[in-house]
Formats: sequence, C-alpha cells, structure tokens
Amino acid sequence: MQTACTKEELRALLAPVRGKRIVLVPTMGALHEGHATLMRQARILAGDEGRVVASVFLNPVQFDNAGDLAAYPQTPEEDLATCRSCGVDVVFMPTPDVMYCADRSITLEETHLSTVLCGACRPGHFAGVCLVVNKLFNLVQPTDAIFGKKDYQQLAILRRMVRDLDIPITLHGAEIVRGEDGLALSSRNVRLTPAHRAAAPTIYRALKAAAEAYAAGASADAVCRNVRSELEAIDGVRPDYVELVDAENLHAVTDEKRMALLAVAAFFGEVRLIDNIELTRNV
Ligand code: AMP
Repeated sequence: MQTACTKEELRALLAPVRGKRIVLVPTMGALHEGHATLMRQARILAGDEGRVVASVFLNPVQFDNAGDLAAYPQTPEEDLATCRSCGVDVVFMPTPDVMYCADRSITLEETHLSTVLCGACRPGHFAGVCLVVNKLFNLVQPTDAIFGKKDYQQLAILRRMVRDLDIPITLHGAEIVRGEDGLALSSRNVRLTPAHRAAAPTIYRALKAAAEAYAAGASADAVCRNVRSELEAIDGVRPDYVELVDAENLHAVTDEKRMALLAVAAFFGEVRLIDNIELTRNV
C-alpha cells in the first residue's frame, strides 16, 4: 500500500495505472467496519488488475458546526492499518491546506435534493460535500466510486451531480453496516455517553417497526409520529427530523408504487446521529 499526502504525490502514484479500473472510496477517517466494508467491496470491484484508492480527509468545508468538526475523532495510524487490511492500494491523506487554496472562490450547489432532510438542518453541508467529492474525482479520476447508503441523501445528491455534470464515473451505493444491536456504525458513535450508546439501537428498532407498518398500509404521518415518539421518550434525545420521502427525489411521496425512504436525524445529547430505511408498500 502506498500513501500520498500531496496532490503531486497522488498524481505520480496513479500515473502508471491510468487506463485500468480505479475504484475510489472517499472517507473522513476514524474508520470503522462500515468503511472497511466499502473498501473490501472496492477491492472486489477493482479485481487483481485494477486499483483501490481510499481518501482520508476530514473536510472542514462540509461542517456547518465548528464544535462538531473540533470533536470529530481522528485516528490516522489505525486508519492506515484498516486500509491496508482491506486491500487498498493507495491512500490519499491530505491536510486542508493541501486540498484548498486560501482564496478559493468556487462553490458547487445542488438545489433540489439538498433543500430537505439534512440539507434543511445543515446549511452549506452538501455544497461542501459536492465540492470535496468533485475535487477528489478530478484528482483521482476513478472509473468507479463507492458511497454508503448510511448517508442516503449524500448518495442521491452525488448521483445527481454525476448525472447533471456528465462526470464519467460509475457510483455504487453500499448497504448500511450495523452493529449486532442494530445501531448503524458511525465515527460519531464513540462520542455517545454510555446511556445514549445503550439507547441508540432504538433508532433502528423504530425504523424496522415503521417499515413493517408502512408495508401493511400505515400512513406516512402515523409512521413518522411513532418513530418520533419512540425517540422523544429517551432522556436527552431530540429528533432533528423524522421524514418519509420518495427514495429518489427525497421530496414528498406522490407515487406509492415507488420506493420510499424513512430518514431520521436525532441529537443524542450533543451527538447527531442519522439513519434510514427503504420502504415499500405490500398493499
Ligand atoms: P464518512 O467517513 O462518515 O464521510 O463516510 C465515508 C463513507 O462511508 C460514506 O460513503 C459513508 O456513507 C460510508 N459509511 C459510513 N458509515 C457507514 C455504515 N455504517 N454503513 C455503510 N456505509 C457507511
């Protein structure tokens, strides 16, 4: 495995493999089994001939809250070991001043899917995501990139970016990786208090019950109300949103034959957790 810290080092490492399949896995570090699963999928996709590139970059531009950025865990040594064990060929680990010019003045804003869910609660977040992912796409020039459905809205927005800007990269969505208790793995989980860590699996339990109820014909309102009240019953938990939307355009469901998405964001104390589940009607 090779490591690049500058754009020049990255270009030099990738120059010999241009023309081969290159699969990119962008991350912000503090890697866990969710990230590792994406990297192993990338390894399979790339095959023996292709290359897997992982980026580990805590992107300041996508944080709307300075406290959240400052508290975000960083574990570079462990991250390198994880990348190595998952068969990554090249790790790109730049610092913010390597990535961004001090007087950068281009923004990249998606204007439809970003207005709802996390986009409504975190101003500028998805513009920051689109900017950094675009830069990574230009630097790595991968043939493929893998993103987790844990950040479902992010994946939907990036699919739109690739479509609308004719970016010649195939995006792959990976299923959410969960702990044995159902909690979606997240770099932020380590910041939970023991009590909130113990209560956090309620999110997925509530989502699964909601999926069953929706499949059996429950209304979107009833489903969301139930999830919200389960979360509000936990001491120190404040739901940011609980919404049932069309899985592709992330706006209100207009056609119940299409896949829907139940998405949740909730503050467990200071820590904001997100999760979601895809829904279909049986009736
Ligand atoms: P992050 O480091 O949080 O920006 O995540 C990097 C990538 O890993 C994103 O595409 C995430 O959606 C994905 N990811 C993070 N956690 C999980 C998880 N529990 N299951 C699947 N994908 C995940």
